[in-house]
Amino acid sequence: MIFMNRNEFLKLLALTPLAMVSMKLNEFGLLARDMSLTEKMPVLFLGHGSPMNAIDENEFVAGFRNIAHKIQKPKAILCVSAHWETNGTFVTAMDNPRTIHDFGGFPKELYQVQYPAPGDPALAKETQSIISKANVELDDKWGLDHGAWSVIKHLYPNADVPVIQLSIDRTQNANYHYELAKEIASLRDKGILIIGSGNMVHNLGLVAWNRMKDDDYAFDWAKEAGQKMKDFILDGDHMRLVNYQNEGKAFELAIPTPEHYLPLIYTLGLQGKNEQVELFNDKAVAGSLTMTSIKIDKA
Ligand code: ZN
Repeated sequence: MIFMNRNEFLKLLALTPLAMVSMKLNEFGLLARDMSLTEKMPVLFLGHGSPMNAIDENEFVAGFRNIAHKIQKPKAILCVSAHWETNGTFVTAMDNPRTIHDFGGFPKELYQVQYPAPGDPALAKETQSIISKANVELDDKWGLDHGAWSVIKHLYPNADVPVIQLSIDRTQNANYHYELAKEIASLRDKGILIIGSGNMVHNLGLVAWNRMKDDDYAFDWAKEAGQKMKDFILDGDHMRLVNYQNEGKAFELAIPTPEHYLPLIYTLGLQGKNEQVELFNDKAVAGSLTMTSIKIDKA
């Protein structure tokens, strides 16, 4: 048994009833991290907002901490961040991803933040192997952008959960991303927490800088789009969200470019039939952004 190769091992697993797998693995002393089944992990969409949320103390940061306390600690995280768009699909595969400070004009202390969570090359390879829709390439250059670390830092402040990122192929539409997400659903049964990090309503060109400190301040179009998005999410009407370009003016203003919206589409693609959605951090900031975040979990 010890000498069987990976393919033989996978064949054995395929022939084995699911409930027996863990026992057999234990029996042979082969309980590998990427093979062991767990209770199905929830899926999160996190509205990350300003990079300053990485170091500020506010209700959104408290919301991130709170949600981490409500879920089982993951074995690793796969993050789809608004801030990693590529031509084609990549997954980070280095042992130690660097902390990328991919923003400009912020205080020095924000550039000093390091989030030294390890990578997970085995998970990267597994992700590559289960996706058939795209020819996923392993990446050794990216790391963790602020879409990932500025929020994951609040979930797991000790940086003791490995993190990999899956890039967003900018050449593809929302339906493609929705379908691609379904291909990684099995990771949820292996202790992997999948996080989409973006913002549902995100128009930086229209930010009301003078209303930054006003509680839950949203322009009318942002309110309209934000409310519709939440209604579609809670009704499970994913197709209206996938086909967001048919929703009219409010959605056009809310989603001037798709990169902050598509991580939401990934999380919805992962929603199982009998799973429910919980909203949190459901507030607007500075007129043209919403921090609305969701947890998808068993009912
Ligand atoms: Zn962002």
